[in-house]
Amino acid sequence: MRVAVVGAGIVGASTAWHAAGLGADVVLAGRAQPGEATAAGAGIVCPWASENDDPDWFRAAAEGARYYPGLVAELTEAGERSLGHRTVGALALAADDADLYRIRQRVLERRRGAADTGEVDLLDTSAARSLFPPLAPGLHAVRIAAGARVDGGRLRDALLRQARWRGADVRSGRAALLRTGDRVTGVEVDGERIAADAVVVAAGAWAPELLAPVGITVRIAPQRGQIAHLSLPGAGTGRWPVVMPRATGHYLVPFDGSRVVAGATRESGTGFDHRVTAGGLAEVLAEALAVAPGLADATHLETRVGFRPVGPDIRPLLGRVPGLDGLIVADGLGPTGLTVGPWAGRVAALLAAGADPGLDLGAYDPVPDRRTVPAGARRTREGARGRAPTHPPLPTLCPLLMLPIRGGLGARRPIRGPWRYEAPPIGDTSRNRYPYDVRFGRPALPRAVDRRRHRSGQEHPGDNPGAAARRRHLPR
Ligand SMILES: Cc1cc2nc3c(=O)[nH]c(=O)nc-3n(C[C@H](O)[C@H](O)[C@H](O)COP(=O)(O)OP(=O)(O)OC[C@H]3O[C@@H](n4cnc5c(N)ncnc54)[C@H](O)[C@@H]3O)c2cc1C
Repeated sequence: MRVAVVGAGIVGASTAWHAAGLGADVVLAGRAQPGEATAAGAGIVCPWASENDDPDWFRAAAEGARYYPGLVAELTEAGERSLGHRTVGALALAADDADLYRIRQRVLERRRGAADTGEVDLLDTSAARSLFPPLAPGLHAVRIAAGARVDGGRLRDALLRQARWRGADVRSGRAALLRTGDRVTGVEVDGERIAADAVVVAAGAWAPELLAPVGITVRIAPQRGQIAHLSLPGAGTGRWPVVMPRATGHYLVPFDGSRVVAGATRESGTGFDHRVTAGGLAEVLAEALAVAPGLADATHLETRVGFRPVGPDIRPLLGRVPGLDGLIVADGLGPTGLTVGPWAGRVAALLAAGADPGLDLGAYDPVPDRRTVPAGARRTREGARGRAPTHPPLPTLCPLLMLPIRGGLGARRPIRGPWRYEAPPIGDTSRNRYPYDVRFGRPALPRAVDRRRHRSGQEHPGDNPGAAARRRHLPR
C-alpha cells in the first residue's frame, strides 16, 4: 500500500517513519519555508504542570510524553546520536507558598492516572538556584523529574533520515491533494501526480490552504511565536532543568553548548508575517530576565519565529475525515506539538495503514467537534459534541430584595455554533504579564483569592499530609 504524507515537520516526519516501519510504500512531500513550527519550537516535554484542564488534551500530551523514552532509545539504537533530547527535569515556579502546594497537588493528581512524572519535589530558592544558577533569588519551585527537552529540528531530521533508510521517498516540494469523487487519491508534487491509498495531512498551520481545494475547511490558524536563543559562555547548561514560570506562558530551556532558549510570544492574528519584531523580542527578553536576571550578560545569538498550528481548542485534530475516503488529518497540535507530535505521527501512520491505533480518537475527530467542517456544510446543534461550551445561567434578581442571585438560576445554556476560536487581539500581550513578586513571600495574588484557596482545604500547606516535614523547605 502507498501512503503519501504532506508536511515535513515533526508530525509528518514521524508519520513517514512509522508508516515505512509498518511496511507501507511512503512518499513524503515537504516544502521548506520560513515559520515552520518544528524548527522554532522550544522543545519542552512536560505536560504535567500545565494549567490546561482539558482531559482529552492531557491524555494526548501524556501519551506523547510517555512515548518519548522508547522513541529516543529506538532512534539511538539506529545510530542517531544527536536529538537534543535529555530528561533534565523541569522547575515549575510558584507565585507563593499556596501556589507551590497547588502545583504539586496538580502534578501528583495527574501522575495517578497518566504518565510517570518521576519524583516531584518542592525546592526552596537555594535548591532551585543550584540547579539553574541564573534564577532570581527568592523563587521557589516544584521540580518534576521526568520533565525533558528536545531539539525539534534535530529530532525531525533524524526521523526523516531513518524514514529514508526504511525506504521512504522524501521529496522537497509543494504538494496539492488529488480528489476523485468522495476519495482522496494521492498528491501532486511540483506537477508530478503520485497515486496513494491514503494521504496524511501534516501541514501544520498551512493545512487550511492545502485542504480547501478538496472541499474541506479546517479551523487551524497560525499563532506566531518569537523565541530568543542566548549563549552564556562557559556555562555548563546541558543538564540544567527547564524553567516554567506559571501563568505567563514564558519559559527558559537550556541546551548543550551554553545555550539557553527564552520563549516565547503567542501572537494571534499575525497571519504568516514572519518577522522578528521589536515588541516581540523585548517581551521575551523582559520575561526571561525577570525570572533569571543572571542571563543579563548572555549573548543574543538569534531569534526564531514559528507558527504554531492552533485549532479551535487545545485538542489535536487527529483522525480520518468522514465522507472523504483516504484522507487523514494529523494537525492542530498548537503549543504542545513537539510533545504530542511523535506519538500523533504513529497514530496517523496506523490509521493510514488501515490498522487500529488501539484508542478512542473521538475527542480528536476532525469533523464532529467542528474543528473540521466540510466546505458549505452548516453546523447544527445536533452535531455538537457533548462538550459544547455553555453560557452561564441567566442572571436573575431575587424577587424579594431585588438583588442579583449569585450564579443566576436555571441550567447552563449551550452556546450555539459555529464556535469561533477566541484569539486575543493582535499585539495583546496582557496574558503574558509577569505575575510574580520575585521576593517570595509577597504573593502577587489578591488576598481574597488566597483565603478562598485556604478554605477549599486543598492547597494550604497545613492541610497536606506530611506538610510539617516539607515546611522546613519553605521561606520564613
Ligand atoms: C516558539 C514556539 C515554541 C514552541 N515550544 C514548544 C514546546 O516547548 N513544546 C512543545 O511540545 N511544542 C512547542 N511548540 C509547538 C510545536 O513546535 C508545534 O506544535 C509543532 O512543531 C507542529 O508540528 P507540525 O509538524 O504540525 O507543523 P510544522 O512544524 O509547522 O510543519 C509543517 C510543515 O508542512 C509544510 N507544508 C505546509 N504545506 C505544505 C504543502 N502544501 N506541501 C508541502 N509541505 C507543506 C511546511 O512547510 C512545514 O514544513 C512551539 C512552537 C513555537 C512556534
